[in-house]
Amino acid sequence: MRTRFAPSPTGYLHLGHAAAAREAFGYAAARGGECLLRVEDIDTVRCKPYFTQALYEDLRWLGFDWPQPVRVQSAHMGEYRAALESLRGRGLVYRCFKTRKDLPSGIYRGPDQPVSEAEAARRMAAGEHAAWRLSMARAKDALGARFDDLSYTEAGQNSCADLSGFGDEVLARKDIGVSYHLAVTHDDACQNITHVVRGNDLRDMTPFHVLLQALMGWPVPEYYHHDLVLRPDGAKLSKRTSDTAIRALREAGMSAQDMLASI
Ligand code: GLU
Repeated sequence: MRTRFAPSPTGYLHLGHAAAAREAFGYAAARGGECLLRVEDIDTVRCKPYFTQALYEDLRWLGFDWPQPVRVQSAHMGEYRAALESLRGRGLVYRCFKTRKDLPSGIYRGPDQPVSEAEAARRMAAGEHAAWRLSMARAKDALGARFDDLSYTEAGQNSCADLSGFGDEVLARKDIGVSYHLAVTHDDACQNITHVVRGNDLRDMTPFHVLLQALMGWPVPEYYHHDLVLRPDGAKLSKRTSDTAIRALREAGMSAQDMLASI
């Protein structure tokens, strides 16, 4: 089996990442498989090369090791565009010019008649940017009865991929031309990931990933979502607060062993 640890270099890794890395690398080790490291840096505004460099150092210091070469998503933007093109060729995605403030809160389903090519060309020439959204209505048409029957394995249990809570999700953001959902499912398929071991914060998105896999003909890995390390007050750890950063604790004299024992 093969899994992956896939952090985003938007900041220094913190104790939550140390615990997540231990989950993924430990899951593979316990099963005689391998765990890849993948750098999810499609958000070229928020991700910084020095955070990527730091994450290699921090993970090595913690004692993790991974096969080379590491897949760095920003080097593969053309592949994500090609995946989007394939969905576009089948009429499954549409351009959306709406801004955050135009969108209703809650789930968004686009208009029956998306913006025409002529209007899109006019608006883009005038400097507007568009995102690409997956049309749930078209996805449903494309998959027929399978749409209501999608399933995946979560922690060894068969789980129904319930899509009722999803709107037309963005597959290509206005600013970067791709989205996390497309890049992550694309890469899990192209790297032959058999098991996705990741934090509970992504559990709710999994049915949508299973839908993309069905539309693209990609295999569905098994999923295992683990608990997140929380602050003592129950809040999520953030890359913005430095007191739990692996390197800050290391510089303060903590050993890797003590760090892993504390989480
Ligand atoms: N890059 C994502 C994150 O840092 C994780 C993606 C995944 O494991 O599916 O939250």
